[in-house]
Amino acid sequence: MSTSAPITQDVMTIPRKLPEGGKINLVGLTRDQLREVLIENGTKEKQAKMRVGQIWQWIYQWGVRDFHEMTNLSKAYRAELDEKFEVAIPEVVTRQVSEDGTRKYLVRIAGGHEVEVVYIPEEDRGTLCISSQVGCTLTCTFCHTGTQKLVRNLTAAEIIGQVMVARDDLNEWPIPGEPKNETRLLSNIVLMGMGEPLYNFDNVRDAMKIAMDPEGISLSRRRITLSTSGVVPEIARTAEEIGCLLAISFHATTDDVRDVLVPINKRWKIDELLQALSDYPKVSNSERITFEYVMLDGVNDTDEDAHRLIDHIKRYNIPAKINLIPFNEWPGAPYKRSSNNRIRAFANIIYQAGYASPIRKTRGEDIMAACGQLKSATERARKSRKQIEAEAGLS
Ligand code: SAH
Ligand code: SF4
Repeated sequence: MSTSAPITQDVMTIPRKLPEGGKINLVGLTRDQLREVLIENGTKEKQAKMRVGQIWQWIYQWGVRDFHEMTNLSKAYRAELDEKFEVAIPEVVTRQVSEDGTRKYLVRIAGGHEVEVVYIPEEDRGTLCISSQVGCTLTCTFCHTGTQKLVRNLTAAEIIGQVMVARDDLNEWPIPGEPKNETRLLSNIVLMGMGEPLYNFDNVRDAMKIAMDPEGISLSRRRITLSTSGVVPEIARTAEEIGCLLAISFHATTDDVRDVLVPINKRWKIDELLQALSDYPKVSNSERITFEYVMLDGVNDTDEDAHRLIDHIKRYNIPAKINLIPFNEWPGAPYKRSSNNRIRAFANIIYQAGYASPIRKTRGEDIMAACGQLKSATERARKSRKQIEAEAGLS
């Protein structure tokens, strides 16, 4: 088992106002920040609130990137905006479409880094899985992203920009004057891509506030799910400041096993985590918490584990649904997926105890778009197989 401290928050974010090519990007700014930069750059204070509303709507409601198309602003003002600002989102490097319709985008962000974004169409919804960091400072031993050494926090612009990239590709920006589509192709967001969202709290919060803003992308907070490995002190803040649904990467039922699978457990133990979770629904006024549980052959998948999992949830009286995730293998992974029979038996124990226990369907496997497989192929800074096995306690 690794003895090195697995937890560090010490990653940098490029300052959001850093002008690129001399222009300031307006994407990702909160309404207050947008007001501030407009005033700093010559917009009159008494007009600022109205201008914020107008520009906001062009960017987030209609998907317009060119100031010259913002026709309810004067020509002179549009030209001024164009001189100083830009509406910039990540650049799509590759786009792959799976046999099952799942789409995976590799997008490039400042500094030449790349992150992956996955769109999963279903009958009644379309879910976009977005990333919050390049790589991840945590080192969960079953997760491909955790093997990537290089890490940087994404800016709010880069986080909301992933949603805008997908809306572009799905051709889903409404057309002014035409009725809006009733059923949205992109109806849900899950923060389940690369990175630990609660180690990039402010940027994730600001981006999700933009996604929820009724004058723009306007997704309900109940259609956004943030998945965390268990950054306990930030869970209450998530309830208060974001209010979205919460998923927790639980994955083990004893501290000994969770210490290895999800090493942040060494810092915040299972009981501390459960305590924080039990307060979440009340504070965020939301429904059930999703317990994510990856099924690893011979590691965490016994009947006793299933019973212990239920005991934990009951002991803290947490409204919960348990999402069983068949392990997605990746090159060099130190674990195997549990058999289908084992997964079904585990699910059944949970179901009998009165909890929903859906088994997550693997989507987009042919394009390596499944959970935990995300890692840009161009990312060279990776750990060796030996290092991975050492951390998993296998050598
Ligand atoms: N860092 C956050 C969110 C990103 S991971 C977190 O850990 O919650 C999104 C989900 O995919 C998590 O539940 C994670 O545990 C799971 N996951 C990671 N690697 C996986 C793999 N190889 N197979 C199946 N699920 C995996
Ligand atoms: Fe990071 Fe989540 Fe992967 Fe753990 S499971 S290494 S927290 S992305």
